Amino acid sequence: MTDRLYYTDAYLRDFTATVLAVSDDARRVYLDRTAFYPTSGGQPHDLGTLGDAIIVDVLDEEERIAHVLAEPSALVVGQSLTGLVQWTRRFDFMQQHTGQHLLSAMFADVYGWPTVSVHFGDETSTLDIAASSVSADTLRDAEWRANALVTANHEITVAFEDAALATGLRKASDRSGMLRVVSIAELDRSACGGTHVRRTGEIGSIQLRAAERVKQHTRIEFLCGNRAVSRARHDATLLSNTARLFTAAVGDVPMLAEQLHARVVELERERKRLVTDLALLDARARWDSTTPDTDGMRRFHLALTDGAVREQEPLAQALTILGPCVVLVTSTSPLGVMFAAAERVGIDAGKTLRTVLSAVGGRGGGSARFAQGSVPDVAALASVVTQLSVVAPS
Ligand SMILES: [Zn+2]
Repeated sequence: MTDRLYYTDAYLRDFTATVLAVSDDARRVYLDRTAFYPTSGGQPHDLGTLGDAIIVDVLDEEERIAHVLAEPSALVVGQSLTGLVQWTRRFDFMQQHTGQHLLSAMFADVYGWPTVSVHFGDETSTLDIAASSVSADTLRDAEWRANALVTANHEITVAFEDAALATGLRKASDRSGMLRVVSIAELDRSACGGTHVRRTGEIGSIQLRAAERVKQHTRIEFLCGNRAVSRARHDATLLSNTARLFTAAVGDVPMLAEQLHARVVELERERKRLVTDLALLDARARWDSTTPDTDGMRRFHLALTDGAVREQEPLAQALTILGPCVVLVTSTSPLGVMFAAAERVGIDAGKTLRTVLSAVGGRGGGSARFAQGSVPDVAALASVVTQLSVVAPS
């Protein structure tokens, strides 16, 4: 049985221990005692070293804790060694974990929203609470309250209590025997096996990033301590870089972005109008410079070597307005075909194109007036051109 040193001292970073067992592949080491926290209760495992060996994972195997090493080790049973916990990572998780206790207590006591589940990630952590929705105002209010509890610097203590006698727990425990109870003075008593800081002040800033509806609950994304500071720094950099683009003060960015967006919408509307005008002029010139076939119909073919056929849609549409005609647009890069037919010429563009394309292994279709499609290769495109160049009313 491994003596879990972190149960009684979460601040222990280095310790000496004796090797009790090593797995056959020499990758798992078992000690008589350890300060390494194994993945459990939602809190990720520690990293660090055992002597010269690097730990990549720590597993809770109930009675024992397995230290999983990066390389097969030369450690032997009975050997004494020093373990070193990677403290930055551990303390970061202690801040997130203790912050979660505080947030769970605050959401339940102030708003009546108990915690449903918790997740601690490498980037952010989340808390699912039994609330159907949390408004932006409430989130800001809750963040303010949480930070006030941090500043109040409540003491956090760990005690081992008989499960049958432990009272006032936030969530009843279904365990029997000894219960590890983590208490935040005046705020919370929870059964927990994780690692926590000594006072709420050590949690540091708490940032509630977002509230998102997930099924019937609300997921609160939060950051504590150094993570909150790093993210605030990251956000501030993003914002100041954006402000530099506008050559403006940070505070003016939302208004300028809104103005820019409105301007883009306006310009896009204007651009579409100009494209249509240009297409009408282009169509009129093409119409006047061609003569109809003997059946009175004009057959246009625009063969592009560069550019999507879709870009010629305004021109094709404009031509079909001018009189009896069919318009074929093809492109070799990217390979594509577009086919349009004027009203009352007796040709269904969609059906015609679909039939021709399916014969050459292509795909496409559309309405009676306008259709688009794709072909597998240049040879198929040539075949499509041959057939559609002579297409006649059926
Ligand atoms: Zn805990």
